[in-house]
Amino acid sequence: MSGCNSPGLLPVEQALVQQLDKILPVQETESVTPDQATGRITAEDIISPMNVPPSDNSAMDGYALKASDAGSTIQIVAAVMAGQAYVNSLQQGEAVRIMTGAPVPQGADAVVMQEEAKVTDDKLVCLKTITAGENIRKAGEDIQRDSVILPKGTRLAPQHLSLLASVGMRDIQVYRKIKVAIMATGDELIEPGKALQPGQIYESNRVGLTAMLRKLGAEVTDFGIIPDQLEATRKAFAEAAAHNDWVISSGGVSVGDADFVKPVLQELGDITFWKIAIKPGKPYAFGRIQKTLFSGLPGNPVSSFVTLLQLVVPGLRKLAGEVNHNSLEITGHLDKDLKRRPGRAEFLRARMWLDGDQNVRVMPGNKQGSGIMNSFTDANCFVVIDADCSQLAKNAKVKILPFDPLLN
Ligand code: AMP
Ligand code: MG
Repeated sequence: MSGCNSPGLLPVEQALVQQLDKILPVQETESVTPDQATGRITAEDIISPMNVPPSDNSAMDGYALKASDAGSTIQIVAAVMAGQAYVNSLQQGEAVRIMTGAPVPQGADAVVMQEEAKVTDDKLVCLKTITAGENIRKAGEDIQRDSVILPKGTRLAPQHLSLLASVGMRDIQVYRKIKVAIMATGDELIEPGKALQPGQIYESNRVGLTAMLRKLGAEVTDFGIIPDQLEATRKAFAEAAAHNDWVISSGGVSVGDADFVKPVLQELGDITFWKIAIKPGKPYAFGRIQKTLFSGLPGNPVSSFVTLLQLVVPGLRKLAGEVNHNSLEITGHLDKDLKRRPGRAEFLRARMWLDGDQNVRVMPGNKQGSGIMNSFTDANCFVVIDADCSQLAKNAKVKILPFDPLLN
């Protein structure tokens, strides 16, 4: 996305850097139990209080013994099932029947698999030579006591919860949830469920944007539809800013007659930047209302989604304390010719697949208008076109962003 961006428009990467620079992660933490912890962000390195496995244990069903006894006839002195332990110390010439996962008795240094042992009554003969350590899982082999099992800033996923449970943890320190306010601006907008009057359209941005924000773990407060009036905009912005970490509005960011976002932002806070070299999206405002972060998304539905995902979400992740989030970027071959006007980085909704030779191919949808939410319907990725690119031939290699889990 380098090269020639339209004059007056900030390149996407610069917008991201400038925005991230202004964001300080939340500091407050709280303690949660694993069943409440999905999607929360760890507020400290999590250290294992124990070894996993906790003691040397058997990797097989078989017989624990001293490897040096393998050539002779051995006396089976006990059986140790899962959940049990042999309390004595194993002596020369003795073996203990043992199941997978059971602790290896003191004095034993190997386990012979039951398939490699011949047992008659309580006598055992090994059918092969045995080396010390054979079929024993050492204590701490999976996790060592005092080692970091999850670094600070990890977004907790189901597999992490089981990891924490496996070392017996009940309380996890996480950052508090981030608080986000959302609102839509526009006199033409009405809520779904009501009858449309001439000139009206259904307000469709809030519901989808809110769903993404909730998936990201934010506590969302909905400020509804704000009319295109200076006073109403001022009041909503001030109230939202007083109780939230980030205020997100959609619509009203162009500089048309009814666009009040800019004047109110100038009055109550400040604007870091205004117009981004992104398509769809161009009018995207970032700044502050008092101390609260603010993003003004364009009203066009696809634009609002793309700018939330590409510009706001990385900032929200940082605010929430998340570090090292990986968004996968791959390359694939374009399945058609593309001609375009250069100047803005473009995020085309597209479908990718693997062809018979295991190459990734990708086909942007035909309708890419910034108001056409239908362009998401069959899509599973964005094709990202550099700002300075004016055409691409079929089969050209292009950058692909598979849809973020927030979109799935
Ligand atoms: P704006 O950014 O306010 O100039 O709006 C750009 C276009 O998006 C206009 O056609 C609006 O009617 C439409 N639009 C704005 N906000 C919404 C919304 N919340 N839901 C659906 N369409 C919207
Ligand atoms: Mg509007």
